[in-house]
Amino acid sequence: MTIEATPRASGASAAELDAADPLRSYRDRFIGADDPGILAYLDGNSLGRPPKSLPGLYADFIGDQWGGRLIRGWDESWLELPLRLGDRIGRETLGAAPGQVVVGDSTTVSLYKLVRTALHANAGRSEIVIDSGNFPTDRFIVEGIAAETGATLRWIDADPNQGATVDDVRAVLGQNTAVVLLSHIAYRSGYLANIREITELAHAHGALVVWDLCHSVGAVPIELDEWQVDFATGCTYKYLNGGPGSPAFVYVRSDLIASSRQPIWGWMGDKTPFDMAAGYQPADGIRRFLSGTPPVLGMLAMGEMLGLIAEVGIDAIRRKSLLLTDYAIALFDERLAQLGVTLSTPREHEVRGGHVTLDHPVFRESMAGLWQQGIIPDFRAPSGIRLGLSPLSTSFAEVELAVAAIGRLLPEAR
Ligand SMILES: *Cc1c(COP(=O)(O)O)cnc(C)c1O
Repeated sequence: MTIEATPRASGASAAELDAADPLRSYRDRFIGADDPGILAYLDGNSLGRPPKSLPGLYADFIGDQWGGRLIRGWDESWLELPLRLGDRIGRETLGAAPGQVVVGDSTTVSLYKLVRTALHANAGRSEIVIDSGNFPTDRFIVEGIAAETGATLRWIDADPNQGATVDDVRAVLGQNTAVVLLSHIAYRSGYLANIREITELAHAHGALVVWDLCHSVGAVPIELDEWQVDFATGCTYKYLNGGPGSPAFVYVRSDLIASSRQPIWGWMGDKTPFDMAAGYQPADGIRRFLSGTPPVLGMLAMGEMLGLIAEVGIDAIRRKSLLLTDYAIALFDERLAQLGVTLSTPREHEVRGGHVTLDHPVFRESMAGLWQQGIIPDFRAPSGIRLGLSPLSTSFAEVELAVAAIGRLLPEAR
């Protein structure tokens, strides 16, 4: 997808871009967007803002469901919530037909389950491919799995301002590759990997893929079924606005489910949890990827954002996301490039996700000062300020205010 006229080319101001934004009214659907103490919230890729409908939703749940139905609530609806919500995430954001997505554990635990499942499914092979720029939890999980199972790690040393490319992956694939674990969008640079081609390539070498969608779900179009992805997981508290610690989803392609053996056998993944039977028998469907009691309270909020995504459409969200990142990059070119700041995010739309990272040595010491001014991006070591631009709740004016404040941090500007 490309956008013809970038804001830079057209020289538009933040006010003009906000006025022309067909999605600008969605900002009002979020709590805190009008808080005068927060001038720019640019961390929606770490913790999305709460939708305004949440206080009512939670009050109803606590009063009617938890308070009113009590233990009966499990039989009446909560036990099915991980599957219902999974189908909805699949439909609105993943391009996944029903029966392949379930919600329940953290991304970290889900990664563990999926990588172990893939190793089991590809028995006889023992290598796990991962890139050294991947998010810490992804790297640590495979290090733990290697220590536990004897699997070997094959590290890709990708360009830190990009991420793993098709060629990077091709160079490390071999007859012993069991599974490739990569992030769809690199958490630091915002590089957007070519899922379709990397998945195809891995399959051609007899390997399975596990994709981490934490920074892409809800921000860019995803077509897991069409791309023939084997396994995927992703956060729901980032662009799905599920709230602090809301549980992750797991996707397993339908033809792999029946033979999948995930490593954490718990009663909620059993065929008949309430028979209290001897011996674990995995449930037939995607439910087998559950382990313990699902965190129902943490699963309520994301439904509101899924509703907004369905209303707006992911293509319109991606269009605004690209305009926001185009604008951030245009402001960087105009105001920061000559002050020693570097851009650590790809410029091409095809390989750019939803956030922009700028690097300068002073940024490490600057974050607290920015937050005090009500400018809230986040810091990523060693020297990056990451601007996370959540399309439905971020305005162009916020981007402009943040870049202006960042400019004032630089020694040359003082
Ligand atoms: C945010 C993020 C995680 C977080 O995992 P949790 O288990 O929710 O803490 C994992 N992987 C990537 C790529 C992330 O961006």
